[in-house]
Amino acid sequence: MQATITVLGGDGIGPEVTAVAVALLQEVAALGGHTFTFQEALFGGCAIDATGDPFPTETRSLCENCDAVLLGAVGGPQWSDPSAKVRPEQGLLRLRQHFGLFANLRPVRTYPMLAGHAPLRAELLEGVDMLFVRELTGGAYFGARQEQGDGDTAYDTMIYTVPEVQRVARVAFRAAQTRRKHLTSVDKANVLASSRLWRRTVEQVAPEFPDVRLDHALVDSFAMQLIRTPSRFDVIVTENMFGDILTDEAAVLAGSLGMLPSASLGEGTFGVYEPIHGSAPDIAGKGIANPTGTILSAALLLRYSLNLAEEAAALESAVIKALESGARTADIAESGAPVLSSAEFGERVRVALRKVG
Ligand code: NAD
Repeated sequence: MQATITVLGGDGIGPEVTAVAVALLQEVAALGGHTFTFQEALFGGCAIDATGDPFPTETRSLCENCDAVLLGAVGGPQWSDPSAKVRPEQGLLRLRQHFGLFANLRPVRTYPMLAGHAPLRAELLEGVDMLFVRELTGGAYFGARQEQGDGDTAYDTMIYTVPEVQRVARVAFRAAQTRRKHLTSVDKANVLASSRLWRRTVEQVAPEFPDVRLDHALVDSFAMQLIRTPSRFDVIVTENMFGDILTDEAAVLAGSLGMLPSASLGEGTFGVYEPIHGSAPDIAGKGIANPTGTILSAALLLRYSLNLAEEAAALESAVIKALESGARTADIAESGAPVLSSAEFGERVRVALRKVG
C-alpha cells in the first residue's frame, strides 16, 4: 500500500525518538512491499521560534494531506513562562480539536523482563494488559472557564453531551470486542451530574455490544484498584480529566514513561500517534532517550490508520524480542548492565523485525 505520514518531531527528545520510529516504519515498508512517504513539519516550541505559532498553517495543511501523524513531544523550559501568550501545548490542543480527535487510546502492558523497574511487586504486575480510552475533546478542559472579580474565585465547567459520550463509548466497546470483552467505565456518578449523564449514556450504548461485559467504577476507588489489582482490567473508558490522571498513574506500572504509546482518533482512520512522555529536556540532545513508546505508537499507526494489523503485530513482537535479548536504554537498564543509545536500541528492534517479519 501507499501512505503519507507527517512527522512532527517537536521539541527536546521528540525528534530523537521519532527518527528511530521512522527508520523502523521504513523497514516495515521494505519488508511488506509498501511505500510510505514521510513529510516533516514544525510543531510546538520549535514552530513558535520559527513562525510565532506552535501549529503553523503549513504544518496544518501537511497534516490535512496525509494518512496519519507521528508526533514526538513538545515543550521545554524556554517556552514555559506561564504568562506567555503562545505556548507549545496550545499546538497539541489545536491539533486535536482541528481533526476532531475525540478518543485517546493508551495501551498499558507490563514486560516481565522489566518488572524490577516498576515500584510495584512483580506478582501484582503479572498479566497486566489494558487499554485506556480517554475522551479527549470535552469535559473540564474544554468547558467554559473563568477567573472572577479580583481573582479570588474561579471556575471550570465539566460539560458533556450525549453524542460526545456515545461516540467514545462505541470506540471503547469496539476495542473490547477485539480483546477480552470486558469494559470498565469510570466516572463520579455519586457526585457529578456530568458523570450521571456519562453512566446513563454508556448503559444505553451497551446493548449494541451484547458480547461485551460492562461494569462501572467510581474514579476514586478505581484509582486504588488500578494499583492493587491491575490485571483484572481489560478496556477502560473515561472522561477527559479522569483519563489524564489515571493514565499517568497506569504508566507507573510499565516501569518507565518511555515505554508507553498512544493513539488519538476521530471518526475516520486518520490519527495522531505519540508516546505518552514529554520532551524530557534533562536528557535531550544526548541520544539516550528510550524510543519504545514512539516505536509502539508507530505500530498503532500501522494498525488503526493504515489497517496493517500484521505489520503492527510484527513491530510489537520485534520490540519484545529486542527487550528479551537484553536491549536496554538507560531508563530501563539494571545498574551495571550495558546501555544502548536510542539509535542502537532501534537497530536491535530492526534486527528482530527482520526475523519476525
Ligand atoms: P517528561 O515526560 O518530559 O519527563 C519526565 C521524566 O521522564 C524525565 O526525567 C525524563 O528524562 C524521563 N523521560 C521521559 N521520556 C523518556 C524517554 N523516552 N526515555 C527516557 N527517559 C524519559 O515530563 P516533564 O519533565 O514533566 O515535562 C518536560 C516538558 O515536556 C514540559 O515542557 C512539558 O510541558 C512537556 N510535555 C509534553 C507532552 C507532550 O508533548 N505530549 C507531554 C508531557 C509533558
